Amino acid sequence: METLTDRDFYPEWHDALVLLNRDLAATEPGTEPFALLLDEYGVFVGFPSWGAQGNPLREEEAGLPEVADAAQESAMEHLWRTWPVCPEHDLGLHVRLREEDGATVWWCAGRGPAGHGIVVGTLEARRTKGRRASKSGKNRRLGLR
Ligand SMILES: [Zn+2]
Repeated sequence: METLTDRDFYPEWHDALVLLNRDLAATEPGTEPFALLLDEYGVFVGFPSWGAQGNPLREEEAGLPEVADAAQESAMEHLWRTWPVCPEHDLGLHVRLREEDGATVWWCAGRGPAGHGIVVGTLEARRTKGRRASKSGKNRRLGLR
């Protein structure tokens, strides 16, 4: 797969990756940043040294939510664990549009029935360091899917 570095192609997707790479660096320090990867089937979100998981982005429809979904799919396969995880509740997150303001957020089922959203690009490292080691990675992965 070829890495698309020219911002003239798909500027919105490059902008989306800036936000997602902020979240990735905050939560998984040392991980290779996301990139747009091109092959004969289309443009994917993945890691240049590893490749991508999932489907290509659909050009006419894909915005930040779709890019975030694609990034999540590749990250979970590449890192072999749930990504991203709520820093407060240690639960797996899913992207959605927040009803109040239309912001693209990572949605968490914690904090009561309404849940809560964390704006994409503003994720923080988990506040409870060390919990990852005490939890079963296998169960966490199964829980998200
Ligand atoms: Zn939460």
